[in-house]
Amino acid sequence: MDHFAPQESCAALRDEVRSVTSAWRSQGRYSPRSDAWLRAFDLEFSKELAARGLIGMTWPAEFGGGERSNVERLAVTEELLRAGAPVAAHWIGDRQIGPAILRHGSRELQEEILPQIVSVDAIFCLGMSEPEAGSDLAAVRTTATPADGGWRLNGHKIWTSHAHRATHAYVLARTERTERKHHGLTEFVVDMGAAGVMVSPIVDLAGEHHFNEVRFEDVFIPAHRVIGEIGAGWRQVVEQLSFERGGAERVLSSYPVFAQMVAHAAQQSDSELRVVVGSLVSRLAVLRQLCWEVARALDSGQAPVQQAAALKYLGNAFERDVIEALRRTELGREPTMSSSFGQALLASPGFGLRGGSAEVLLSLIAKQETRA
Ligand SMILES: Cc1cc2nc3c(=O)[nH]c(=O)nc-3n(C[C@H](O)[C@H](O)[C@H](O)COP(=O)(O)OP(=O)(O)OC[C@H]3O[C@@H](n4cnc5c(N)ncnc54)[C@H](O)[C@@H]3O)c2cc1C
Repeated sequence: MDHFAPQESCAALRDEVRSVTSAWRSQGRYSPRSDAWLRAFDLEFSKELAARGLIGMTWPAEFGGGERSNVERLAVTEELLRAGAPVAAHWIGDRQIGPAILRHGSRELQEEILPQIVSVDAIFCLGMSEPEAGSDLAAVRTTATPADGGWRLNGHKIWTSHAHRATHAYVLARTERTERKHHGLTEFVVDMGAAGVMVSPIVDLAGEHHFNEVRFEDVFIPAHRVIGEIGAGWRQVVEQLSFERGGAERVLSSYPVFAQMVAHAAQQSDSELRVVVGSLVSRLAVLRQLCWEVARALDSGQAPVQQAAALKYLGNAFERDVIEALRRTELGREPTMSSSFGQALLASPGFGLRGGSAEVLLSLIAKQETRA
């Protein structure tokens, strides 16, 4: 696969995404919003990107992929995030489940699932967290036990975004009880339509429904739906988290309101505000560089666990400071549930929790550092 990503190719991709998002906006088909990659779900929009070859961009052509580089994919994801576009239908499959299956899945699983992610016929949700297993993910209690021709899944997942719309779930389950909780975990692909899968909604403090609880009662999983090695799920999920943590969404979730603040500051004579905004703009430039380095590392075949954790930690701090700076401006006064700032403010407590909290990331970075 040729990973050379000439600037012209990235520029052409950026132009294409800008023209799609601007056409959709001008036709009134969506309004930009913060945290759109998690909260704004529009199957038609994702299908349009699929038709343009903008999903599964880095995957082999034999699975419907575009054989492009992660740097080119970053150009596309940055533009989608900047536009606050409704990308939630394909984001999880494209960002992390496809890459995890490509890295560890059997040929049969790759042939079955990857083309469906590319065409957005498969919509994935993430079944990792449980009531007693969030930061301490290795404490998962959901079990998968061997059955004729596959496995039987029993357990309870929580905070599962878009489980009520997903066709498939990625599930981390315990396949063996051992002294060491990081051992005996296995990754699966589960049909959300299978008998025994029950989804119930959780409405968040913004009044929105993307979270769910998911219960599995004796759900049958065919044998080929194991991702990778049985019992090696922990090692694999740590790698997968680098796909989850290392993208531009860890920096640009609140970009639509940040852009409004930059434009607002440019028209003000408030020098203090200009200094704050200028400093945020330069931090954003550094973070974009870090995103680029993660993309380069992915292009060279690595799973950049430590860089991705650092990117998420620094990106979360940046976005928290964006929200705080906005509070000082007219744009941040009297937020409502539906105003741009109101939406960003209500989404922001989740930024530092999902995909690993600050404490978890710092501990992971420290462990990696002392191992080096
Ligand atoms: C918007 C959003 C979307 C999400 N979507 C999904 C999804 O689709 N699928 C999914 O599986 N999960 C999802 N999650 C869940 C998310 O991964 C968990 O919230 C996260 O792992 C934290 O777990 P917890 O909520 O149980 O909090 P806890 O683990 O209870 O942590 C609460 C606080 O305690 C701190 N803490 C915990 N342990 C330690 C420690 N040992 N040392 C120091 N501090 C500690 C944490 O840093 C955190 O600040 C989502 C969460 C959010 C906010």
